[in-house]
Amino acid sequence: MDLISYSIEVKYMTTYEIYDSRETSKMCEEGVECMSYNKLTPEQERVIVHKATEAPFTGEYDNFYEDGTFICQRCNAPLFSSKSKFNAGCGWPSFDESFPNAIKRVLDPDGIRTEIECTNCGAHLGHEFHGEGLTNKNTRDCVNSLSIRFMPKGKELPKIIHG
Ligand SMILES: [Zn+2]
Repeated sequence: MDLISYSIEVKYMTTYEIYDSRETSKMCEEGVECMSYNKLTPEQERVIVHKATEAPFTGEYDNFYEDGTFICQRCNAPLFSSKSKFNAGCGWPSFDESFPNAIKRVLDPDGIRTEIECTNCGAHLGHEFHGEGLTNKNTRDCVNSLSIRFMPKGKELPKIIHG
Protein backbone atom coordinates (compact mmCIF):
# COMPACT_ATOMS: atom_id res chain seq x y z
CA MET A 1 0.00 0.00 0.00
CA ASP A 2 1.47 3.35 -0.94
CA LEU A 3 1.42 6.28 1.43
CA ILE A 4 -1.42 8.15 -0.29
CA SER A 5 -3.92 5.32 -0.25
CA TYR A 6 -2.89 4.46 3.33
CA SER A 7 -3.64 7.99 4.53
CA ILE A 8 -6.95 8.01 2.68
CA GLU A 9 -7.92 4.80 4.41
CA VAL A 10 -6.95 6.14 7.83
CA LYS A 11 -8.86 9.34 7.17
CA TYR A 12 -11.93 7.41 6.10
CA MET A 13 -11.86 5.24 9.20
CA THR A 14 -11.39 8.16 11.53
CA THR A 15 -14.30 10.04 10.01
CA TYR A 16 -16.46 6.97 10.24
CA GLU A 17 -15.55 6.35 13.88
CA ILE A 18 -16.27 9.95 14.87
CA TYR A 19 -19.62 9.74 13.15
CA ASP A 20 -20.36 6.43 14.82
CA SER A 21 -19.55 7.56 18.36
CA ARG A 22 -21.38 10.87 18.03
CA GLU A 23 -24.62 9.34 16.84
CA THR A 24 -26.30 7.00 19.28
CA SER A 25 -28.43 5.58 16.53
CA LYS A 26 -29.16 1.92 16.10
CA MET A 27 -31.27 -0.09 13.75
CA CYS A 28 -34.45 -1.03 15.54
CA GLU A 29 -36.29 -2.55 12.63
CA GLU A 30 -34.98 -3.59 9.30
CA GLY A 31 -34.48 -0.49 7.19
CA VAL A 32 -35.75 1.85 9.91
CA GLU A 33 -33.23 3.82 11.86
CA CYS A 34 -34.08 5.02 15.33
CA MET A 35 -32.18 6.70 18.12
CA SER A 36 -31.48 5.20 21.52
CA TYR A 37 -32.84 7.10 24.47
CA ASN A 38 -30.47 8.17 27.24
CA LYS A 39 -29.36 5.28 29.40
CA LEU A 40 -31.22 5.22 32.72
CA THR A 41 -30.05 4.19 36.16
CA PRO A 42 -32.16 1.44 37.82
CA GLU A 43 -33.76 4.12 40.05
CA GLN A 44 -34.64 6.30 37.06
CA GLU A 45 -36.04 3.30 35.21
CA ARG A 46 -38.28 2.37 38.14
CA VAL A 47 -39.89 5.83 37.97
CA ILE A 48 -39.75 6.61 34.24
CA VAL A 49 -40.67 3.20 32.84
CA HIS A 50 -42.49 1.47 35.71
CA LYS A 51 -44.21 4.63 37.02
CA ALA A 52 -42.92 4.39 40.58
CA THR A 53 -42.75 7.50 42.75
CA GLU A 54 -39.55 8.59 44.45
CA ALA A 55 -39.71 9.14 48.20
CA PRO A 56 -40.76 12.71 49.10
CA PHE A 57 -38.10 15.25 50.15
CA THR A 58 -35.34 13.09 48.70
CA GLY A 59 -35.14 14.25 45.07
CA GLU A 60 -32.29 16.26 43.67
CA TYR A 61 -34.58 19.09 42.56
CA ASP A 62 -37.09 19.24 45.42
CA ASN A 63 -35.37 22.19 47.08
CA PHE A 64 -33.67 23.66 44.03
CA TYR A 65 -34.36 27.06 42.49
CA GLU A 66 -31.71 27.87 39.92
CA ASP A 67 -32.43 29.55 36.57
CA GLY A 68 -32.69 27.20 33.65
CA THR A 69 -34.70 24.52 31.93
CA PHE A 70 -35.79 21.08 33.06
CA ILE A 71 -35.62 18.48 30.30
CA CYS A 72 -36.79 14.89 30.08
CA GLN A 73 -34.23 12.54 31.59
CA ARG A 74 -34.86 9.98 28.88
CA CYS A 75 -35.24 11.96 25.63
CA ASN A 76 -33.98 15.52 26.41
CA ALA A 77 -37.28 17.20 25.45
CA PRO A 78 -37.63 20.54 27.30
CA LEU A 79 -40.51 20.20 29.78
CA PHE A 80 -40.51 23.04 32.32
CA SER A 81 -38.88 26.42 32.81
CA SER A 82 -37.43 27.13 36.24
CA LYS A 83 -39.74 30.21 36.17
CA SER A 84 -42.75 27.94 36.67
CA LYS A 85 -41.20 26.06 39.61
CA PHE A 86 -42.58 26.84 43.04
CA ASN A 87 -42.29 25.51 46.56
CA ALA A 88 -45.44 23.50 47.23
CA GLY A 89 -43.96 21.95 50.37
CA CYS A 90 -45.06 18.51 49.14
CA GLY A 91 -41.59 16.99 48.82
CA TRP A 92 -41.42 16.87 45.04
CA PRO A 93 -40.48 19.47 42.41
CA SER A 94 -43.64 21.39 41.55
CA PHE A 95 -44.42 23.44 38.48
CA ASP A 96 -47.54 25.42 37.60
CA GLU A 97 -46.89 25.46 33.84
CA SER A 98 -45.14 23.26 31.28
CA PHE A 99 -43.89 24.17 27.81
CA PRO A 100 -46.65 23.99 25.14
CA ASN A 101 -47.36 20.37 24.14
CA ALA A 102 -44.41 19.13 26.22
CA ILE A 103 -46.46 16.91 28.49
CA LYS A 104 -49.50 14.75 27.99
CA ARG A 105 -52.11 13.99 30.60
CA VAL A 106 -53.48 10.50 31.08
CA LEU A 107 -56.04 9.23 33.56
CA ASP A 108 -54.10 7.33 36.23
CA PRO A 109 -54.87 3.62 36.73
CA ASP A 110 -56.32 4.66 40.12
CA GLY A 111 -59.06 6.44 38.14
CA ILE A 112 -58.71 9.60 40.21
CA ARG A 113 -55.41 11.27 39.55
CA THR A 114 -54.05 12.60 36.28
CA GLU A 115 -50.74 11.12 35.31
CA ILE A 116 -48.32 13.31 33.34
CA GLU A 117 -45.94 11.91 30.74
CA CYS A 118 -43.37 13.33 28.37
CA THR A 119 -45.19 13.83 25.05
CA ASN A 120 -42.15 12.86 23.03
CA CYS A 121 -41.13 9.60 24.71
CA GLY A 122 -43.91 8.71 27.16
CA ALA A 123 -41.64 8.86 30.22
CA HIS A 124 -43.62 8.93 33.47
CA LEU A 125 -43.09 12.32 35.11
CA GLY A 126 -45.58 12.45 37.98
CA HIS A 127 -49.12 13.73 38.50
CA GLU A 128 -51.06 16.91 37.87
CA PHE A 129 -53.37 18.51 40.42
CA HIS A 130 -55.81 21.38 40.00
CA GLY A 131 -57.69 23.70 42.29
CA GLU A 132 -55.26 23.77 45.20
CA GLY A 133 -54.91 27.55 45.01
CA LEU A 134 -51.15 27.44 45.45
CA THR A 135 -50.36 29.76 42.54
CA ASN A 136 -52.39 31.98 40.20
CA LYS A 137 -52.42 29.23 37.59
CA ASN A 138 -54.01 26.90 40.15
CA THR A 139 -52.18 23.89 38.75
CA ARG A 140 -49.46 21.75 40.27
CA ASP A 141 -47.40 19.43 38.14
CA CYS A 142 -45.85 17.22 40.80
CA VAL A 143 -42.75 15.74 39.20
CA ASN A 144 -40.17 13.15 40.23
CA SER A 145 -36.64 14.56 40.23
CA LEU A 146 -35.50 11.29 38.68
CA SER A 147 -37.64 11.97 35.58
CA ILE A 148 -36.06 15.31 34.77
CA ARG A 149 -32.64 16.87 34.30
CA PHE A 150 -31.72 20.49 34.91
CA MET A 151 -29.88 22.51 32.30
CA PRO A 152 -28.57 25.84 33.63
CA LYS A 153 -29.58 29.04 31.82
CA GLY A 154 -27.27 29.84 28.92
CA LYS A 155 -26.17 26.27 28.40
CA GLU A 156 -27.09 24.73 25.07
CA LEU A 157 -29.84 22.15 25.38
CA PRO A 158 -29.03 18.66 24.14
CA LYS A 159 -30.72 17.39 21.00
CA ILE A 160 -34.13 15.79 21.52
CA ILE A 161 -34.02 12.04 20.93
CA HIS A 162 -36.94 10.71 18.92
CA GLY A 163 -37.45 7.05 19.68
ZN1 LIG B 1 -39.08 12.21 27.13
